[in-house]
Amino acid sequence: MDAEPAEVEFRSEMTVELVRHSAADSDVLFAARVSTQGDKTLDHIGEDAGRSRGLINYLMRDRHGSPFEHNSMTFFVSAPIFVFREFMRHRIASYNEESGRYRELRPVFYRPSHERPLVQVGKPGAYTFVPGSAEQHALVTGEIETVCRDAYASYRRMLDAGVAREVARAVLPLTIYSSMYVTMNARSLMNFLSLRVHEEGSTFPSFPQAEIEAVARQMERLWAGLMPLTHEAFVAQGRVAP
Ligand SMILES: Cc1cc2nc3c(=O)[nH]c(=O)nc-3n(C[C@H](O)[C@H](O)[C@H](O)COP(=O)(O)OP(=O)(O)OC[C@H]3O[C@@H](n4cnc5c(N)ncnc54)[C@H](O)[C@@H]3O)c2cc1C
Repeated sequence: MDAEPAEVEFRSEMTVELVRHSAADSDVLFAARVSTQGDKTLDHIGEDAGRSRGLINYLMRDRHGSPFEHNSMTFFVSAPIFVFREFMRHRIASYNEESGRYRELRPVFYRPSHERPLVQVGKPGAYTFVPGSAEQHALVTGEIETVCRDAYASYRRMLDAGVAREVARAVLPLTIYSSMYVTMNARSLMNFLSLRVHEEGSTFPSFPQAEIEAVARQMERLWAGLMPLTHEAFVAQGRVAP
């Protein structure tokens, strides 16, 4: 007997949770101070907040990157597969993603919110985006919903006929949500943020797609809470990864 048709869900938000971490400004300080103090550096971590801020700023400004590597943050990210495709270009990170071979993919798809700009203007490398009309939003919503519902129904028909998940998933669009753990250190995270967050005043402004930027901004907020001096120095030095 055929399974009941699954309820297809549409979402427009990405979610990020910080699930594990060993990351603090003191991790940068003890690593940097070994240059001059050898193995005594762990004894002096809490000393002199002003000098600590100054040292982190100096390391960031002069791009001494390795002291920013002695820490770790693991995020659980839920986003459409097209976001993960961009995300996983960032090789200095560790990834584990849910499998479309070993589990049935859930019918959760991305649909842009009304706030998401729809129309691209400008030239390659420096596009800007402006709001769509009501007609364009209705068109985007209708097309995405139709294609996703049809694709998922097709996926289910194949599963119900005994076709393997790894074959049946070929009909599913990149708008389907996936989930992954990604682990980065502050240095690789800064490289990621420098490219995936657009901030006026950055030394090298980037023009990321809105959906990955939404993920990156959540990661930046979580990281800033763990390593406030490092985050402050990153912003002050023009968001250039050291
Ligand atoms: C706005 C935007 C548009 C993009 N458009 C495209 C596109 O059209 N097509 C496309 O293919 N990609 C595109 N990308 C992806 C981009 O080219 C990078 O692959 C991605 O941003 C990851 O950057 P990364 O290599 O610095 O990161 P990571 O892979 O995390 O690497 C971090 C740093 O490690 C070093 N590193 C890592 N691997 C190597 C290596 N093999 N050799 C030497 N040094 C290494 C580099 O210093 C690098 O900056 C785009 C990215 C952005 C932000």
